[in-house]
Formats: sequence, structure tokens, C-alpha cells
Amino acid sequence: MRADRLDGMNVLLVVDAQGRIAYASRPAWRRLRITDPIVSRVETDDVDFRQVVACFSRSQAECLEFRSSDFVLRTGSFTVVRPVQQPPRDLGLPSQPFLVIANFDTGVVMADFAQDLVALMVLALLLGGLLTGTLWYVLTARLLPRLNQAAQTDGLTQLANRTSFMETAMEILAEAEERGADLVFAILDIDHFKRINDTYGHDCGDVALVSVAAVLATVLRPDDLVCRFGGEEFALLLSSSKEGGRKVLERLRLQLEMNRVGYNGRQLPITASIGAAATADCGYNLDYLYTAADKALYAAKHAGRNRVDWTDAEALSRLQLSR
Ligand code: GH3
Ligand code: MG
Ligand code: MG
Repeated sequence: MRADRLDGMNVLLVVDAQGRIAYASRPAWRRLRITDPIVSRVETDDVDFRQVVACFSRSQAECLEFRSSDFVLRTGSFTVVRPVQQPPRDLGLPSQPFLVIANFDTGVVMADFAQDLVALMVLALLLGGLLTGTLWYVLTARLLPRLNQAAQTDGLTQLANRTSFMETAMEILAEAEERGADLVFAILDIDHFKRINDTYGHDCGDVALVSVAAVLATVLRPDDLVCRFGGEEFALLLSSSKEGGRKVLERLRLQLEMNRVGYNGRQLPITASIGAAATADCGYNLDYLYTAADKALYAAKHAGRNRVDWTDAEALSRLQLSR
């Protein structure tokens, strides 16, 4: 029998039908009778143990059938008694019925249990920590950036949305004003977009919006800021002087004119009108730049569409007078 199986056990006895101890964890007790005063004197504080000894003292045949009541923990010690038809081979006993009597020390058993409990609690804490860490990682490293990204992005074109554009634009304008750097603000509006929806359907309109966003992404530089401002309008904040902005916006207008929107086997042409205002003319206030660019866009639409118009210093003073 393995030593670790005897943990917390005071004594293990295997007794035959005549009450002889065929095996004892205490070698000195082997071949004694269970009724021997040495045995009973040592373990008489336990009820089940005493009952077994009493049974063999009366030489009752049914002693081999004795079975202790199931596992009642007592202070001091407790005994587990079980009949076996055949003992395990490693005890080297004859193959016949025996009574196995195991007496345990409650203190040692409880200490073992407490040790297991501490180990279980440490394991639970470790697993809990691991779980919290994993959740934290998933939340901060995966979910939050995605949610953030989703909150700042237009779902259809994947460009920045208006709110995030306005926030970033204000920061860029404030910084540019400090450095005295030039910027150009522009609004781009697709011409006769309603006709595309009405003629080919709303889905085609969506494809056209994605197509315009793709052209914007190729023409603009990484320093430029662009967003879907709403509907079929896009806003741009270019890191360039008015002259540089003229070239960029004209190139953009031309690219859009040459671009074709592929839909259901058709190649549809679209154009856009652009209204622009430079910080050199209008200053660094975003609301002001927006009003100026919108005014220029209105002029571009009225002048026949598919063109870039500017609100320059002169137009601005007229704008201010008309306010
Ligand atoms: P203009 O040249 O004067 O700008 O004419 P327009 O037809 O482009 O302008 P209008 O303001 O009359 O129409 C804009 C249309 O854009 C109306 C609206 O249904 C459509 N629209 C707005 N948002 C979306 C969208 O997300 N998808 C689609 N397919 N259409 C949209
Ligand atoms: Mg519009
Ligand atoms: Mg339009």
C-alpha cells in the first residue's frame, strides 16, 4: 500500500473471520487478535472501533459484515470499517473475506483539507486574475480601439465622419495659427446626385459615394484631412497655401470628372463642385471658413457646376457686409 494513502491515518487493520489481524500498519500488531487489550487500549475512544472489537469479543459470525456508519467527522479520531471479499494483492494476504478497519486522526485530515482549500483558493485567484487580465486586454486592446474607430468613421465610405473631422480640424487650425502656417478649407458636393439615385437607385448612389471617397484618398496627401460631411458632401482641410490648394482642388475636380462609377455593368460619369476658402483670406476660425467655403460652393453650383470657386478677401468683405 502506498505511503501517501496512509496520510492522516492512525492505523490500518485487516482482520479475518476469527478476529485475527492479518495485516496491520503497525507491524507489532500483526497476528494479534483484534480483541487483544493492546489494540483496544490504544483506540477505545472511537465508537465504531469499539463496536468492532466488542463484536469479535462475542465471536459473532456476522462481524465480517460490519460496516461503519458513513463518515461522521468527530473530534479526536474516527474509524471507517468495510468488509472486503478479497484483499488487494499487494498486501500478500490469502484470497478470502476480511474486515478492513481504518482509524483516522481528524486533525490531520482537517489539516490536509485546509491545505487543499488554500491551494484551491490560490488557483481560483490565479484563474480569476488571468480571466480579468484577458478581459481587460480584449476590452482595451481590441474592443475600445474598434469602438473608437467606429465612432469616428463614416460607415459607408470609411472616411472620417463630420464630428471627428471638426474636432481634428480645430486642433490643426489652432496649431497652424500659432505657426502662421497656411491651410485651405473646402467643401465638395457631388453634382446632380439626386439624379443618380432616381435613375439607377439608392444602391448605385451608395456605390458612387464610395467611388468618390476612393478618388479623394488617392488625390489627397497624408497631411490633408478629409471627411464625409453628410449626404453627398465631403469636407477637406488641406495643409497648403492658397496656390497649392488651387492645384490640388483642380486636380481633384478633374480626377472625379475622369472617374467612372461602375454599377451593374455600366460606367457612369459624375462630377462635383467645390467651394474653397484659404486661411490667408478668411483666418483660422472654422465656422467662418465653413461659411466662406459654403458660399463659394453655392457660387460654383450657380456658375454651372463641375468647377472650383473660392471665397477670396474681396468676396469675404462682401459676405461680411451682407451679414
Ligand atoms: P446639386 O448638384 O445641386 O448638389 O444637386 P444634388 O441632386 O446633388 O443635390 P440634392 O441636395 O438635391 O440631392 C442630394 C441627394 O443625395 C438627396 C439624397 O437622397 C441623396 N443622399 C444623401 N445621402 C445619401 C446616401 O447616403 N446614399 C445615397 N444613395 N444617397 C444619398
Ligand atoms: Mg448637397
Ligand atoms: Mg449635390
